[in-house]
Amino acid sequence: MDGRPARIGVLALQGAFREHAFALRRAGAEVVEVRLPADLDGLDGLVVPGGESTTITKLARIYGLDEAIRRFTEPILGTCAGMILLDRDHLGLVDLEVERNAYGRQVASFEADLELAGEAEPFRGVFIRAPRVREVGEGVEVLAEHRGEPVLLRDGRVLVAAFHPELTDDPRVHERFLELVMEAKSVRA
Ligand code: GLN
Repeated sequence: MDGRPARIGVLALQGAFREHAFALRRAGAEVVEVRLPADLDGLDGLVVPGGESTTITKLARIYGLDEAIRRFTEPILGTCAGMILLDRDHLGLVDLEVERNAYGRQVASFEADLELAGEAEPFRGVFIRAPRVREVGEGVEVLAEHRGEPVLLRDGRVLVAAFHPELTDDPRVHERFLELVMEAKSVRA
């Protein structure tokens, strides 16, 4: 592995991309805002942030980023709307069936302590009109649950969260993602 920091792209079309950029920089990564397919060149990983999945989907199509992200072969982290974008019905990069805004109006936004696989300390999950995972494909690993439902999952090189790890000070989800990135990077080297 070369010693340089991981270069991580953050899809910057709409939504919480600045917060992700901040969290990634704090975890030691170099960050590139992605607005055009060429911005993906030379990246070690990509974050697809939360926001409004319909808006992000439309903008991604207009700029040709949907096809470009489908062809991107490095690790990806998708949060909230980003999880929707990566699911079976959208880019098809995670084997999950996801339902948008599935928590109903009154409880559409909430916070909850989540148990992370392999960690003693809970992770504070911020859920904002969060998607709900309805079906988990074979080979998808559940890394955290909320009331028995999966909210943090890994499908190979893709990590997805129904909540917003970029809105808390806890770096552990971003750190896990950067571990995936460093693994992939060392395999390539
Ligand atoms: N409700 C949003 C959507 O369906 C997702 C919410 C979020 O990313 N915080 O696009």
